[in-house]
Amino acid sequence: MRLILFGPPGAGKGTQAARLVESFQIPQISTGDILRESKAAKTPMGMEAARYMDAGKLVPDDVVVGIVEERIKKPDAEKGYILDGFPRTVPQAEALEAMLEKNGTPIDKVPSLEVPEDILVGRLSGRRSCPSCKAAFHVEFAAPTQEGICDKCSSSLVHRDDDLPDAVRERLRTFEDQTAPVKEFYEARGKLVRVDGVGDVNDVFERLSKAVKS
Ligand code: ADP
Ligand code: ADP
Ligand code: ZN
Repeated sequence: MRLILFGPPGAGKGTQAARLVESFQIPQISTGDILRESKAAKTPMGMEAARYMDAGKLVPDDVVVGIVEERIKKPDAEKGYILDGFPRTVPQAEALEAMLEKNGTPIDKVPSLEVPEDILVGRLSGRRSCPSCKAAFHVEFAAPTQEGICDKCSSSLVHRDDDLPDAVRERLRTFEDQTAPVKEFYEARGKLVRVDGVGDVNDVFERLSKAVKS
């Protein structure tokens, strides 16, 4: 099963992808996580990417397309994967399509988590992230057992630079301008399935699982 988990920043892609990993036994590929790792490791690519990320802008297409091309070649992605946060522009979607067409391994489905903007702002500003295992928490909606500590791996949680108010506003604008057209791209190919992303995490997962299996 090859899936693209689509949705605006804060829609719950990371949260739901972790559950899909468990139930389908395929890896999650998050370009955001890979870019943040490169940023933390201070590689030349990571330092360049950080300038865009911290401002809430998109990293150039050739950089992220290269990351994904390399990642999906790995053996653990042979049986499928969940793309989280990619593609985010129509040129990225076209590059992915060309890449997969060459190998005869097309995307099966594109579930789209639908969440209104006012709810997204609340989710992003209260998000706390684990830099180690990538789990996401929320100060109000998904509080860790011990404040500031990851329930899964005990690392200290961080408030991402781009979850601060100015960057959040910029990211939501970037989504509308550059990423929303990606939805039409997959709709035109009959792959898009809309999923209501509002409500309890377990209820969203139930709807998502049904949509994926439909
Ligand atoms: P994305 O990867 O799409 O940016 P996340 O999975 O990181 O989204 O979720 C964003 C924030 O919203 C996190 O703080 C997460 O704990 C919280 N969250 C995720 N799903 C829900 C939900 N169904 N209801 C309330 N809060 C949620
Ligand atoms: P979110 O949780 O808001 O969905 P991500 O973790 O997916 O955010 O991405 C964080 C940042 O990393 C983005 O704002 C962008 O700067 C960069 N990024 C991640 N994926 C891509 C992509 N496919 N194309 C361009 N930039 C990306
Ligand atoms: Zn952790």
